[in-house]
Amino acid sequence: MSVLVTGGAGYIGSHMVLELLDAGEQPVVLDNLSTGFRWAVPEGVPLIIGDFGDQALVDQVIADHGVTAIIHFAAKIVVPESVADPLSYYENNTAKARNLIACAVKGGVKHFIFSSTAAVYGEPKANPVTENEPLAPVSPYGRSKLMVEWMLEDVSRAHDFKHVVLRYFNVAGADPKGRTGQSTPNATHLIKVAVQTALGHRKDMEVFGTDYPTPDGSCLRDYIQVSDLVRAHMDALRYLRKGGESLTCNCGYERGYSVLDVINVVKKVSGVDFRVKLSGRRPGDPAAIVAGNARVREKLGWKPLFDDLSQIVTQALNWERRLHNRQNQESGKKE
Ligand code: UDP
Repeated sequence: MSVLVTGGAGYIGSHMVLELLDAGEQPVVLDNLSTGFRWAVPEGVPLIIGDFGDQALVDQVIADHGVTAIIHFAAKIVVPESVADPLSYYENNTAKARNLIACAVKGGVKHFIFSSTAAVYGEPKANPVTENEPLAPVSPYGRSKLMVEWMLEDVSRAHDFKHVVLRYFNVAGADPKGRTGQSTPNATHLIKVAVQTALGHRKDMEVFGTDYPTPDGSCLRDYIQVSDLVRAHMDALRYLRKGGESLTCNCGYERGYSVLDVINVVKKVSGVDFRVKLSGRRPGDPAAIVAGNARVREKLGWKPLFDDLSQIVTQALNWERRLHNRQNQESGKKE
């Protein structure tokens, strides 16, 4: 009996694999290593290098490993990239997810947990946003994920199959034990970028938009620590196994920080007053979005352990230092 983790060599997926191992589960990773890393998959965990949309491969993995649940992380996740190249997002995030769900149904996998996003709400009318708010994504990324939510709803109605959709707000930080973290070389996410700038791995950074209708003019987001986020998946898995009905939950702390707040915390924690350029708005960004989290707490019994921006930034800084040392060691080996 094993749990298939697509994208298990990536940022959130690698934290999920650790969480599953810590809970005594047997994870199997399927990852094409386009943005993930072989080293991020712990020894002893089967790693199948391939595409989650490849039905023959997924059928085989389900049969070979006795997969009883799928946690689907693998996706393209950069909002501005989705605006520039929507078809690759619909191909990867939507069409291939359809194939994966088809394999689950065919292979008798009854439990499916899906990484969705706050981007399905677009620009919410009120914050904190609850799961019942209208769905109006403004980016191809958000739309590519929302279509999968709809597919899952329909499939749950038609087949012996139950799912949990988790709508992530802004995921940040790293494993508190320092085993994995955000490692994508050209990551665009705010905390990663700010931490890299503080450590001198970038010469400066930009704030995208200072004229939003928010208290300081920069965008407001709800930053959730990655181990807290993956624990919600573990809670969801237990919930489904106990016979829970299909469910959609927001994952966030119900607390908003502006881009400028985040930069100030990174400056304070790192002790470095790095250069910040104030720039224009980035396409596809809503002004403010904060998670209403009553449902994930009530239905899944989720309890956050790392709801503290300074701690999240400290984890991100520690991980970035380790990553930098690892990269230096690797380039040293090649020379
Ligand atoms: N952001 C920024 N500078 C950066 C990266 C991000 O000002 O170098 C802003 C971005 O415009 C958004 C917020 O930070 O308002 C969070 O962006 P991120 O890409 O981290 O996550 P998203 O909210 O797009 O999922």
